[in-house]
Amino acid sequence: MSIHDNKVVIIGSGFVGASIAYATLIRGLCTELVMVDTNREKAVGEVMDLSHGLPFVPPVEIRTGGYEECAGAEVIVITAGANQEPAQSRLDLVQKNSKILHSILEGIEQYEKDAILLIVTNPVDVLTTLASQHSELRPERVIGSGTILDTARFRYILSQRCGISANSIHAYVIGEHGDSGVPIFSSASIAGSPLSLLCANSTSPCNQNWQEEVTAQVRRAAYEIINRKGATYYGIGLSCAYIIQSILRDEHKVLTVSSYLNDQYGSLGTAISVPCVLGKGGINRRLQVSMNPIEKEMFIQSAEKLKEAVNILN
Ligand code: NAD
Repeated sequence: MSIHDNKVVIIGSGFVGASIAYATLIRGLCTELVMVDTNREKAVGEVMDLSHGLPFVPPVEIRTGGYEECAGAEVIVITAGANQEPAQSRLDLVQKNSKILHSILEGIEQYEKDAILLIVTNPVDVLTTLASQHSELRPERVIGSGTILDTARFRYILSQRCGISANSIHAYVIGEHGDSGVPIFSSASIAGSPLSLLCANSTSPCNQNWQEEVTAQVRRAAYEIINRKGATYYGIGLSCAYIIQSILRDEHKVLTVSSYLNDQYGSLGTAISVPCVLGKGGINRRLQVSMNPIEKEMFIQSAEKLKEAVNILN
């Protein structure tokens, strides 16, 4: 393998971009990592800081650059844009961040058309829709980080309740990365058994409203963190490194990421998260998740909400 086999470019070197870079370096995922930011000094500072950790991670070249650095990249990650203020929803960021996204897409399209574009900036589903509609990009190569983080939060919360490692819990959040995301309880499973069976046999059962409580905890998680420390970044940093790993190493992991859907889920007119198989070409295929009628309705409502946000913008 030559030293230039895996190039990752991160556009936006703020909290989220730097955390993705850090997680990517620690996992040894790429051989070239480039950080881009309109605030060049910020990108330079992050690269200097990260470079001092190079003796402790697998070999990688790390530097700053402009959009021209996207040439030859396998994955381009977009984290540029405003983040949520306390009490601000992700959809509140749409006007400002859609303009930033358009300027970035115009900046990079002359240099690279084959890379996988991983969009992380919020509102991630709306921006993933806009990027998928961008004439110069192939929609199958545009992925939003979507509900990968919500799914991780869901599994963590269940793991705390069940006293079982989050790695051993199979459960997904689908729909919007945001206030209408849908945790799927009906097909959540542990050790091949439905969660409901584990609950029925538990010696310390949860109260009657436990599913509503967990749903609220998943949806409120970012607000709780932002109220306390101003931004969320470690969880998404690790989540995105996991996405990048599955793509670069062609691992075919099943991850809930956002993409423009018009297949077995119907034509929803928006990018939205469902479980997807991720490998070299990006989304290899989407998987049908088993839902009860209430969850199905919540998913459709989530898609409607996103479609409305896209229509208002268009
Ligand atoms: P931040 O303010 O720390 O960083 C944003 C960076 O983008 C800044 O350094 C800014 O200079 C840069 N930037 C702005 N316009 C640019 C452009 N045109 N080109 C290049 N760089 C540009 O914000 P953050 O905390 O890193 O958050 C970034 C985004 O990620 C926000 O929209 C936030 O809501 C989102 N986010 C998403 C998730 C998720 O699960 N998808 C999780 C956390 C945060």
